[in-house]
Amino acid sequence: MANISIGIIGMPNVGKSTLFRALTAIAVPAENYPFCTIDPNVGVVEVPDARLDRLVDMLPPRHRVAPVVEFVDIAGLVQGASRGEGLGNKFLQHVREADALAHVVRAFESEEVARAASSVDPVEDLEIVDTELALADLEVVGRRSEKVTREARSGNKAAAREEALLERVAARLDRGEPARREDVDDDEGAMIRPLNLLTGKPVLYVINVDEDGLEGSSDEARVRAAVAGQDPRAECLAICAELEAEILDLPVEEREEYMAALNLDAGTLDRLIQVGYRLLGLHSFFTIGDEEVRGWTVRVGAFAPEAAGKVHTDFERGFIRAETIHYDDFVRAGSLKDARERGLLRFEGKDYVVQDGDILFFRAAP
Ligand code: GDP
Repeated sequence: MANISIGIIGMPNVGKSTLFRALTAIAVPAENYPFCTIDPNVGVVEVPDARLDRLVDMLPPRHRVAPVVEFVDIAGLVQGASRGEGLGNKFLQHVREADALAHVVRAFESEEVARAASSVDPVEDLEIVDTELALADLEVVGRRSEKVTREARSGNKAAAREEALLERVAARLDRGEPARREDVDDDEGAMIRPLNLLTGKPVLYVINVDEDGLEGSSDEARVRAAVAGQDPRAECLAICAELEAEILDLPVEEREEYMAALNLDAGTLDRLIQVGYRLLGLHSFFTIGDEEVRGWTVRVGAFAPEAAGKVHTDFERGFIRAETIHYDDFVRAGSLKDARERGLLRFEGKDYVVQDGDILFFRAAP
């Protein structure tokens, strides 16, 4: 599976690169994650999870491997991108490759930092960007519609259903709403997914505020109001990107004091990563042993064989069962030996839906 990536988008001069710089300061060393992309515009960060660290403390293994997500700094959006203005097509291609979007809007005031010519305020900025994405989607939907309409005319029932779905989505996009708001059933989901619509992706609106805006600001409230109620796959988070980047420029031992002096909450970046992960409908399970304690990413709702396939493709094909204990029970038991003695491990078969925090030992046929 390709790595999970979150694309950072937004108008020029809103703080995208600053946020990216803060994220790369906590990026993992590339040599520990050989399966990740190496690219100056990609930062690979661990998904913060205190449970993994606790497991490492309890065992302790020779290696610790955390689930990671990639953040991609996608520059180059200008108004008209959907018509190929600026870096239009290249920009849209990068957005298309992301699994989710972190859409940064500017809610900080600065005399020194000019706003983009078309930029007025965070809500309008947000609408400009979302409109470009929606226009690009309309084009994709339009092209696909032409094709399925021809097929529907020649009596293809599936094509007729897809035609109706595409009409609904196009009408929504025309109203200026994102495709992700469209309620689709499983069949429709399977039809729409291959189009990889930009406004169909989960989005986290990152409201880049001034230091004093961290306590709440009218801009933040307005962005929240504009986004609120959209759908479960859109959320808001206020951060001060510049402060985050500044803190991470300090030596580790000075960070805490500095943050305390500013009355800053640790872990805003952690939360940003965690919210992104959750918006994508992902959660983690663990494998443990003396050699390695590792967190793995799996879809919410995935069955045990799919989880096994993350560890090794052969495990999915040859899946027999998974010996299972939840992290909470494991911690209560204190060790694997005690957990076994107390009968806390159970066998689960291929119909088992993996839960967040499960510790799994897979049994597979060779
Ligand atoms: P991008 O074009 O969206 O990537 O924006 P940058 O990250 O390059 O930021 C543009 C300018 O805004 C830089 O000079 C940053 O230092 C500044 N900037 C970013 N975030 C903040 C912030 O929270 N407060 C203030 N005052 N300036 C910021």
